[in-house]
Amino acid sequence: MFYYYWLMIPALLLSMWAQARVSGTFSKYSKIRSKSGYTGAMTAREILDENDLHDIDIIAAKGKLTDNYNPKKRVVNLSEPVHSSSSVAASGVAAHETGHALQDRDDYGPLKVRSFLVPIANIGSMAGPYIVIFGLIFGMGIFIEIGIVLFTAAVLFYLVTLPVELNASKRAMELLETKRILERDELGAAKKVLNAAAFTYIAAALSAVMTLLRLVLISRNRR
Ligand SMILES: [Zn+2]
Repeated sequence: MFYYYWLMIPALLLSMWAQARVSGTFSKYSKIRSKSGYTGAMTAREILDENDLHDIDIIAAKGKLTDNYNPKKRVVNLSEPVHSSSSVAASGVAAHETGHALQDRDDYGPLKVRSFLVPIANIGSMAGPYIVIFGLIFGMGIFIEIGIVLFTAAVLFYLVTLPVELNASKRAMELLETKRILERDELGAAKKVLNAAAFTYIAAALSAVMTLLRLVLISRNRR
């Protein structure tokens, strides 16, 4: 049942490369100060206020590249290197996270699907493969099926994450330009950071698809 691990190798390499690229790109452009002098927090506040989202708080979060928007708490969490830095990378990431807040306000379809899938996808991505293996070891087909169905929910989650992330970055670039937070020559740098981040989601989706394929092949092979 471990023969299909080779399926994971390209996805694993791609993930590692994508992770290295996002930290490399972020650290490169976090050294370049924007001409406007906007920090990540100022960027997010400006965009949120402009869109009458005054009630959404911006919080400095611990860690690196831990930035996110929490729709339940209505909070934009910005990691320390983004929150207080006035680099082009910081403005890019902050605008991206507010892009998620705007998606939430607009009831953006893929975001709703993604939120709906979160609980089942969490279980599926963690427990799914183990449930399949349990079913294989004890020869209980029903567990194999359940494991695969749960993991399929996780795959759908990773796939629907792609339009959500790309759309947030697209909104971010438009906002940074129209609000004149970044100037034309700086926009390219912010875009590079957001593209590198997007690639990590593509790698994660690919790796999930490969795992599903591996589970399906394992289960077919036993028959
Ligand atoms: Zn995002």
